[in-house]
Amino acid sequence: MPAVRPDNILTLPRVMPRPHEDAVDRPVVTVVTAPRMLEGEGFEVRRAFSGLDLRLTDPFLMLDHLGAVEYSPGEAKGAPDHPHRGFETVTYMMDGELEHRDSNGGGGLITDGATQWMTAGAGIVHSEMPTERIFTKGGLFHGTQLWVNLPKALKWTPPQYQDVDANRVKLLASEDGGALIRLIAGDLGGHSGPGATRTPITYAHVSVSAGARLQLPWKPDFNALVYILAGYGTVGDERRPIREGQTVALGKGNQITLHADAVQDARSNTVEALVLGGLPIRENIAWYGPFVMNTREELIQAFQDYHAGKMGVIPAKRAEG
Ligand code: MN
Repeated sequence: MPAVRPDNILTLPRVMPRPHEDAVDRPVVTVVTAPRMLEGEGFEVRRAFSGLDLRLTDPFLMLDHLGAVEYSPGEAKGAPDHPHRGFETVTYMMDGELEHRDSNGGGGLITDGATQWMTAGAGIVHSEMPTERIFTKGGLFHGTQLWVNLPKALKWTPPQYQDVDANRVKLLASEDGGALIRLIAGDLGGHSGPGATRTPITYAHVSVSAGARLQLPWKPDFNALVYILAGYGTVGDERRPIREGQTVALGKGNQITLHADAVQDARSNTVEALVLGGLPIRENIAWYGPFVMNTREELIQAFQDYHAGKMGVIPAKRAEG
């Protein structure tokens, strides 16, 4: 995967496991397999947290895994103009190019290892489309989109973005160098990722070499989720098997353990996983489609505001040159 990768993993700062006598490995609460569904103009995603109680995923609402897919010319699809209110979308592109445009006049390219952190807050209309180049020529496309809820006090915050370029992602190694950790946001073992978060979360993409073990210290008050992007491994002391397209929700403890099986398949000789967690918000969730609020009345208002044009429209594309 051309997500960012260092020349020599052994030169990276290390994330050390907890001292043995102090480590409480988080147990597996449940493992779910992502169903495949269609989004936007009809592109397939795997909806990673489908089937998980929102109390286990809080402060996260949803994780979609797009691809990896090799588009033929003319085949790529995206999500044209649509609104959001009340949460954040965090789009991470490992392969391919996604073009973003919105009603604030914002826009930009999300590509090879970059993350776009969009705080929809009070409301925004945006489009998320493969670039003209991908549409015309086809090509590899692989990304994820995470939805992070906002607490009541921040739902009406003005829309905002952060572009986290691939070269800003904090690269770290496990104790023995058997795993690469790309820290996108939050703290991990005394290191900090570049993404600024509204509520405390940690978000990382890890690559664990075949046969290697990754142990990550994890804040006891955070929830903990592991989603497998590719490969075969096990989670926890109990060595619960997990494979591509599965999410494990973990219970209480201060450490996350992920083993990569010694034998992988031809597509990937590493286990690729997203490891994420945060401080639960623990507020009522009223969710319909692209709006996530606290009450049903606020949802109705969101629909009314969108249809009244109060979330804006995407400006016509500027002429080139
Ligand atoms: Mn969207």
